Amino acid sequence: MQRKLTRGGRLVVASHNPGKLREIGELVRPFGLDAVSAGTLGVSEPDETETTFAGNARLKALHSALATGLPALSDDSGLEVEVLGGDPGIYSARWAGPAKDFTFAMRKVQEALAERGVTMADPAPRANFTAALCLAWPDGETQVFEGRVFGHLVWPPRGSKGFGYDPMFVADGETLTFGEMEPGKKHEISHRARAFKLFVDACLG
Ligand code: IMP
Repeated sequence: MQRKLTRGGRLVVASHNPGKLREIGELVRPFGLDAVSAGTLGVSEPDETETTFAGNARLKALHSALATGLPALSDDSGLEVEVLGGDPGIYSARWAGPAKDFTFAMRKVQEALAERGVTMADPAPRANFTAALCLAWPDGETQVFEGRVFGHLVWPPRGSKGFGYDPMFVADGETLTFGEMEPGKKHEISHRARAFKLFVDACLG
């Protein structure tokens, strides 16, 4: 029997990333959930010690659910570049360094490609964003939902509407980068939107 969240109930968003907090807040609002961030409730950020998106999502959601006694939703996500063997992958946030500088992180991706003799055009390097969402309950039960969006990289980065690696990623069938796209449009096609649809169907339907 699938466990469901109820409208009007509180949901902890187990993230300290402002870009993700904004996107997850926008995604859950229509479902009448009272979303509150882990940081607001004084919950610390656990070390991401697992080796997969799903593992890290589970670890973060459980940490918040156990600390607050409320259901908690986490997101572990990142950019996977095909010719880099999936890097930066689960290290996407860490490539931005302690200052969380994504201009620096995007340059690191471009430099890693250049080191391998990969140009940014003809053909452009293939990449995807992956998001693993985990809903954890205070009794320790967890459910993970994964979504992906495939596309290619561009250089130089374009646009300032998104966050993270958005300015260097163009989804298949699109011409604008996620950084140039209106947030509503990104929410229709993104990795997080796809994972979120699975979460909604399972836990809010
Ligand atoms: P973590 O899941 O907190 O380890 O961080 C994942 C990192 O991946 C974020 O800090 C972003 O840099 C990147 N990332 C995840 N989702 C997106 C997205 O929708 N757009 C751009 N970058 C993203």
